[in-house]
Amino acid sequence: MTDTGPTAIKTTVPRRILDVRGLSKHFPVTVGILRREVAKIRAVDDVTFHVHAGETLGLVGESGCGKTTTGRCLLRALDPTAGEIIFDPGDVEPVDVAALKGKALKVLRQDMQMVFQDPFSSLNPRWTLLDLVGEPLVAYGVSRGKALETRVAELLRSVGLRPEYMRRYPHAFSGGERQRIGIARALALNPKLVVADEPVSALDVSVRAQTLNLLADLQEELSLTYIFISHDLSVVQHICDRVVVMYSGRVVEVADTDDLFSAPLHPYTEALLSAVPKPNPDAAKNRIVLKGEIADPANAPSGCAFHPRCTYAKDICRQQAPPLTTMESGREVRCHLAAELTLAGVN
Ligand code: SF4
Repeated sequence: MTDTGPTAIKTTVPRRILDVRGLSKHFPVTVGILRREVAKIRAVDDVTFHVHAGETLGLVGESGCGKTTTGRCLLRALDPTAGEIIFDPGDVEPVDVAALKGKALKVLRQDMQMVFQDPFSSLNPRWTLLDLVGEPLVAYGVSRGKALETRVAELLRSVGLRPEYMRRYPHAFSGGERQRIGIARALALNPKLVVADEPVSALDVSVRAQTLNLLADLQEELSLTYIFISHDLSVVQHICDRVVVMYSGRVVEVADTDDLFSAPLHPYTEALLSAVPKPNPDAAKNRIVLKGEIADPANAPSGCAFHPRCTYAKDICRQQAPPLTTMESGREVRCHLAAELTLAGVN
């Protein structure tokens, strides 16, 4: 018998399709005709997180927390002020999206696409479905003529729309159907990563579940990775594997969805979760109503940006900004008191 040596132990470490390191996007506040800069809006400030290939990562927080600006920087719809966005599609060498220019950036955009929030304003009303869904294919020289029609028909079928509709205009469709058109357009170039910015928040409740199920089916079928931007925690709980919580342009907590919902570590996450609808009517009594507005990113409070709204704040919170810390459990949180607080989840 031949000795084949020790059996190799196989470990499966999920590939990071995206590694975001120290990403910032600052907008200058200017005055006068000389546009003198008097302040900076730190819309995204030193944001670090990663996305595993094949997962759905939720990016959540109130309006103005920086989640949409982060998503737009990832796709270079906005140029970041600082930081790295390492994209590893798996079949070619990883690249820093933040540093790409010109043709290299255009090539990369095939792999990273966006689904927009508003299916009414994101589709050109003068274009037919053939124009809308086929435009990326024409722009990238992938197909034209009969081959283009065949591919558009296939894309429409994949999102549950009939190919015979390809000569119609968007106004002939409902909100849910228009969002399906937007999804078909985003998938035209076979992307690996899709950033979906509040993709169901403009839809009727009755069609939200159908759209979420469609996104889940397409993910499995096409091995897609999603970044799902949302303020609606109940939707995030339904669709996301992991969640990044943002407040005032910064990451305040990162966790697996189940862990985050059952035992949040950051008081802001606890407050967001308290607003998730629950079947028990008594649960409404436990809702945490946050005082005041989200911190102004042009003039953030000293110390922890959340301290003016936090019911647990102590002196240290007003004086020192907490770092994003990895706890023993591997979870990440930005709070001085994370190790001593026991916060309420929803499960
Ligand atoms: Fe609240 Fe202090 Fe934690 Fe900030 S650091 S979230 S103010 S307890």
